[in-house]
Amino acid sequence: MPPSKGFAALDAKSPLGPHNFSRREPEPTEIVIDILYCGVCHSDLHMARNEWGNAVYPMVPGHEIVGRVAAAGKSVTKFKAGDIAAVGVIIDSCRHCEPCNRGEEHFCFEGSTLTYAAKDRVDGSITMGGYSNNYVVDERFAHTVPANLNLAAVAPLLCAGITTYSPLRHWNAGKGKKVGIVGLGGLGHMGLKFAHSFGAHTVQLTTSLKKRDDAIKLGADEVVLSTDEAAMKKHAGSFDFILDTASAPHALEPYLSLLKQDGTITLVGLPEKPPSINMFALITKRASIAGSMIGGMPETQEMLDYCGRNNITAEVEVIPIQQINEAFERMLKQDVKYRFVIDMTSLK
Ligand code: NAP
Ligand code: ZN
Ligand code: ZN
Repeated sequence: MPPSKGFAALDAKSPLGPHNFSRREPEPTEIVIDILYCGVCHSDLHMARNEWGNAVYPMVPGHEIVGRVAAAGKSVTKFKAGDIAAVGVIIDSCRHCEPCNRGEEHFCFEGSTLTYAAKDRVDGSITMGGYSNNYVVDERFAHTVPANLNLAAVAPLLCAGITTYSPLRHWNAGKGKKVGIVGLGGLGHMGLKFAHSFGAHTVQLTTSLKKRDDAIKLGADEVVLSTDEAAMKKHAGSFDFILDTASAPHALEPYLSLLKQDGTITLVGLPEKPPSINMFALITKRASIAGSMIGGMPETQEMLDYCGRNNITAEVEVIPIQQINEAFERMLKQDVKYRFVIDMTSLK
């Protein structure tokens, strides 16, 4: 393997900086990808700062990868050198349990292997993510990309895209449904685009009033400032489904009050502290609080193909890798429009 370089966190407190490392040689079913773009997910920030307590350092974050295939092993059938390939949040799983056989590798009974800060199943090394020049991955965990889409704007589909597409499909967000999206960030703006595209009456719930016009442009039928009690009251008891993408700790009651009887709020945001729940807000309308995590490999490919057919990509601000620490700070200030994507040519 050619040497790898990227940006890494060396501990929970220091900024990310340049880091040289090596990747293992590819197996016959694996491809080597020269990374072109990598999206910046809020999970990268949570992980780099060890907010979930599972960090491993040095950590090269990044799990929204798009690149060009540099080499394909002799048993690879889906890709050849020169093709575009994309990789998301997981890069391996046991491949034989019930969820894996169903194509729901993210629910693997033995635990799926994350793109970074996880133990590689082949040689036990620690996986290093996409804030780097290359990646080695089994073709099962890599996706093809529709040719009509802008590659920088495709990268965020690999996490923000599938994490919102999957629950919106699972809970049948579509025509005749009133759907709320909490948070207009990386995940939120993709949720908004998908819910709108699926035909739901889509309401953007935001704490940032200045994002109102953007939300409308991105497909919101209505925008509600979630801190405005009177505005929230007007929508009480009217939502079939709410997708909560907020990255910071927040109360669930204001959103539960928006649900219809038997409505569901699905949490995909993973704040450092979990929410406490007022049971009365739940039992008085038989409401459900659910969770959802990325999606399996077939559904991720389905989502990419859907995006190709419907010309859906992320709204991106492309940055050189040297600006990653500033991007993290802006993400914390809710100042992302609406996904940072690293242009990996900046590594050279
Ligand atoms: P992001 O781009 O930083 O967006 C998060 C948005 O949350 C903000 O822009 C803001 O939107 C909203 N927000 C922040 N604080 C809030 C608060 N106190 N109350 C209500 N809303 C608040 O982050 P992201 O990349 O979309 O990620 C969002 C979360 O999802 C993160 O916790 C991430 O780790 C998690 N995640 C989960 C999965 C999964 O599989 N479940 C996958 C990827 C990411 P407004 O300004 O519009 O209020
Ligand atoms: Zn992510
Ligand atoms: Zn499995």
